This record gives sequence, structure tokens and C-alpha cells, in this order.
Amino acid sequence: MSLNDHWMQRDLATLWHPCTQMKDHEQLPLIPIRRGEGVWLEDFDGKRYLDAVSSWWVNVFGHANPRIGERIKAQVDTLEHVMLAGFSHQPVIELSERLVRLAPPGLARVFYADNGSSGIEVALKMSFHYWRNAGQPGKQRFVTLTNSYHGETVAAMSVGDVALFTETYRPLLLDTLKVPSPDCWHRAPGVDWETHSRQMFSHMERTLAEHHHEIAAVIVEPLIQGAGGMRMYHPIYLTLLREACDRHGVHLIADEIAVGFGRTGTLFACEQAGITPDFLVLSKALTGGYLPMAAVLTTDTVYQAFYDDYPTLRAFLHSHTYTGNPLACAAALATLDIFEQDNVIEANRALAAHMGRACAHLAEHPQVGEVRQTGMALAIELVADKASKTPYPWQERRGLAVYRHALQRGALLRPLGNVVYLLPPYVITPEQIDFLAEVAGEGIDLATRTAVSVAVPAGAPAEFRDPG
Ligand SMILES: *Cc1c(COP(=O)(O)O)cnc(C)c1O
Repeated sequence: MSLNDHWMQRDLATLWHPCTQMKDHEQLPLIPIRRGEGVWLEDFDGKRYLDAVSSWWVNVFGHANPRIGERIKAQVDTLEHVMLAGFSHQPVIELSERLVRLAPPGLARVFYADNGSSGIEVALKMSFHYWRNAGQPGKQRFVTLTNSYHGETVAAMSVGDVALFTETYRPLLLDTLKVPSPDCWHRAPGVDWETHSRQMFSHMERTLAEHHHEIAAVIVEPLIQGAGGMRMYHPIYLTLLREACDRHGVHLIADEIAVGFGRTGTLFACEQAGITPDFLVLSKALTGGYLPMAAVLTTDTVYQAFYDDYPTLRAFLHSHTYTGNPLACAAALATLDIFEQDNVIEANRALAAHMGRACAHLAEHPQVGEVRQTGMALAIELVADKASKTPYPWQERRGLAVYRHALQRGALLRPLGNVVYLLPPYVITPEQIDFLAEVAGEGIDLATRTAVSVAVPAGAPAEFRDPG
């Protein structure tokens, strides 16, 4: 038995994996990873995989990065953890100061959680609670975009709209207001991104005008709807949204969990719209992909609405046990050092341009509807019919065939349903990008060459998307 098989069998005897129909592993090998280095992951049989998706979008400076590793090691020997209520420590203070300095102007306070979904819950609760404290308790609802994703806890699911993740749990969810996404995949032929995003804003404007008295906040993923298939839109939408939220007295929550830290071409996506949200939620790449942590940045106005004598019960009495964990803070500080010292945002421009050139030809493929890109995220939309942009039925799992092929060729390239995407660590080289483009092209050929027949259970929804 190979070492991979040995570990796979032990794993499958005990573990229950995230975002997985475990029965798939009767066919699909589970890959036990022994070590990582830079963009590479290596399994127990010595096979290497180029991590094209940054291990679920977290790893920006490569695996086993010595600069992040050393910082964590030093922190382990100094202070591994202390509760953050009533106590503080140097890494969390320094990190908060730096995040406030780097974030869009006006964000002055940092609250920590220990994963992205929890960070979203913090922002939702803070916004809701702010309006109560401000004497407007009727403002209780949240506005979300169709096809959005904000995490898997119950309130975070409520403000999401990817049916695969939320449909089953509908009876548990909050009652939100859903507005059509500015997603430019749906633009009419000949219409550019800016015009489309601008036109789609009319739906948002109407909802805000009609419902502002009952709305606490609008929540969006700036520029890229990640789990919804790397769908993209123009920054003008955010500029218009900020103005409308101000005019109607509604908070704006920017979920930059996936797009923050350089993914879109600027450190934060909101910068491209020249806006400051009322809440900026960060996670994923915040720690370079080393440790789970989320940060919610907000304004002094929000902070002051909670600041009062204890008996008024205006305080935000929310906590997660590992809030502000020193090891995670150390990883985040090392990550920010790398951004600063290596001039990463600038260097990424050349890499992003290379990625665009390397994948441009895939747009000519008869089963590719579009190749789109925002900074260091590039997506290839597979379609059953190019002219009508008809998607492959989700049950055919075309993306899974691309995934399997890529594994064989030594790449971790895990599509979101019909969307094959590259979201690589920033330490990738142009040659490695070329390799990924080649593997993606081969995978798409294989995945779309033949008809796939699948049994569709009665009553199955039409719009499900395979998980990423
Ligand atoms: C991943 C993600 C989340 C959820 O973060 P978790 O750490 O997985 O809970 C929320 N919003 C967006 C945009 C994400 O990509």
C-alpha cells in the first residue's frame, strides 16, 4: 500500500471533511499532504501540486514561508495566548494600529473574531445594535446581493445567496432584502462593465429608497463575488452604493474576507472605488494563510454609540474565546511586513498582466463563455452553449473533471461548479502561471469533450453550484 493510501484510509475511517459529499471519496482520492514549500504542496508519495487556489484563498506568500514561520515561533516562546477581555498584548496592539493605518480613511477601531463567518456575525450584530443604541430600533434588516457569499454560520448564511450552501437551511435564516447583483457576466452584448454595473445600481437605489427605515446595513463582497463563481463587477457600483447608503442612513458592510490583501490589485478592493465602508471585514489572507483570525474595522461614530456607563447596556458584549490570539497576530504582522518590504502590490501588477496573457486564448474555446480577471483573480466560465451563455447543468460536475485532470498533472485547481479559476499565491512565477494555464486548457478540453448523462433527482433545484 502506498503511503498516500495508508493515510487516506486512516483519514476516511474517522474524519468528516468540509464542503464534501463524503461518498465522493469512494471514487475520488483524498490527498494527504506531507509538507508544503512556496506554491507547492507535496503528498506522502512525493507527488507535488501547484496550489493554484492558495488553499481556499488564504495563502498569499507560499507554504512554509520562513519569514512568517520565524515570527510565529518567536511568539510561541513569548506568549501563546491571553484572553483579550481585561487584558492586552503587544502583537494585537501593533496589528490594530497597522490595520487602521492601512485601511481606507475613517476606520478607527478594530474588533477581532476567529474566522471569516464570525467576523461577518460581528459586523451584522454591531450594525443592528448601533441603530438600537442610536434610537432607531426599527432598522433591523440587511440588504444583500444575489449570488453573494458571506460564510456558513446562520446569520452569515442569511446574507448569502449561493443556493447550494443555504437552500437546505432556509427555515433558519433571517429575512433579508435581496437585490440583483451587478455581476458583469450577465451584461448584454456590447455593454461594458462600468455601464452594466451602473445600470444594475437602479435596483439597489429603489430598495434603499423604499425600505431605508427598516434597513440596518447593505453587505457586499467588493468587486468579486468569490464563492458565487468569481463573478466580477466595476468599482463604480461601490462608489454609487456608498453615496446612497449615506443619503438613506444605512450602513455599508464591505466583506473583504476574500478580496482583501492585494487580491484585486489594491491592498483593499474598496480603494478602487475611493470609499470607506462603515464596517470592513477581513480574514483569510490576513495571516498569510497561517492561522484563523478575522478583524472587523469600524468608524469612531459606531464605536461612540456603544461607549457609555455599564448599566445603560449599550456595550457590545460579544466575544470569541480566541479573540486577538497572539500567534495569529504575529502571523498577520509578518504578513504585513512582507507586503511592505517586498512592494507586493506593485509586483503583482506584472504577475496579473502575465496571467491575463497566459489565459487569454482560452476565451476562444467553444465551451468557454468568458475569461474575466480582476487583479490576481482570473476566472474561466464554462458553458454548454456559448452564444446563449447557457450553463452546463450543475449535476454534470464538469468542474470536477478539470479538478481531477489538474491533480494528475500536479496542480491544485479546484473549480466552483462551471467556473475554473486561478487565485494563486503572490510568490508564483510567470513560468508557473504558464503551466497552470496549460493544465486549465487541457482540463477544459477533457471536461467538455463528451456528453455527460446524470440522474437528476425529482425536484432538484436548477441553480445549484458545485462547491469550491
Ligand atoms: C471565505 C469567506 C467567508 C467565510 O469565512 P470563513 O473563515 O470560511 O468562515 C465570508 N465571506 C467571504 C467573501 C469569503 O470568501
